Amino acid sequence: MPGKIRFAPSPTGYLHEGHLLSALYVWAAAQKWNLKIHLRIEDHDRSRARDNYVQSIYEDLARFGFSWDSQSIQSSRTSLYESALEELEKKNLVYPCFCSRKQLESENPKSETGEIVYQGKCRFLGERLQMPEIENLPPHNLRVIMPDKIVCWHDLRLGDFAENPKMQCGDFPIKDRDGQWTYQFAVCVDDMDEGITHVVRGEDIRNSTARQIALMELLGCTKPPVYMHHPLIVDSSGKKLSKREMAHSLRQDLESGVLPEQILGNVCFKAKLVPSPAPIALEKAINLVMDQL
Ligand code: GLU
Repeated sequence: MPGKIRFAPSPTGYLHEGHLLSALYVWAAAQKWNLKIHLRIEDHDRSRARDNYVQSIYEDLARFGFSWDSQSIQSSRTSLYESALEELEKKNLVYPCFCSRKQLESENPKSETGEIVYQGKCRFLGERLQMPEIENLPPHNLRVIMPDKIVCWHDLRLGDFAENPKMQCGDFPIKDRDGQWTYQFAVCVDDMDEGITHVVRGEDIRNSTARQIALMELLGCTKPPVYMHHPLIVDSSGKKLSKREMAHSLRQDLESGVLPEQILGNVCFKAKLVPSPAPIALEKAINLVMDQL
């Protein structure tokens, strides 16, 4: 059976050049490794996702000529997340956390990457306080208990990693205090349920991989996907594109009459795949990226 790769944008804005580069990597990997392509709309955060952005993802990808084999949207999969949560609860791996943002900042150390490493303050609160039913509690998020264990995983581009999620972030939220499923949780449930065998995504998410593998194991996964994190588009000084530069959307360009081939040429140039920003057809751009894999 062929494997499956996914492209998983969040509909919290229009697609930008960073997404386009990611899409090129995903489609190139699919072609090179003979994988089916799944488009997943990651609208787990209902407070930030917008329907018009969902629609624009389908339309803009199609305008560039991308096509996919299957698709899903997280907001229609709530029952799946509920049952995954129940499964973790049955194993006593979930607890409510009442810490405020300020407390989290002041009471916990930070990892090398500047991330808060939650020390588990609320973990044994339930046993101490005889907590009422979870629904009746004051504002809280739900955290999953991470095992204190090194996760060894291999990145097809960056090599071997041995990381302990307990040291990177500690127990992390799977549902936030507004009742939204978190990215980390929804992505694990989906990658498992949708039979994803390959994950190709930007380097900025690399730090999430060990904790996702650990969470998938808690959910019963025995064979996590193969991972590859691709380089990001950087500015001329080598820094990641700023929010403002990223805010410039593909849609703006397309609507002002810039041809998809020209946008593809610009992205390939910025990603240092070609020496000049000349227009490039989609197939050619995918082939250029395939040479990087
Ligand atoms: N939804 C994430 C984003 O738009 C991608 C997550 C992933 O590929 O794991 O950045």
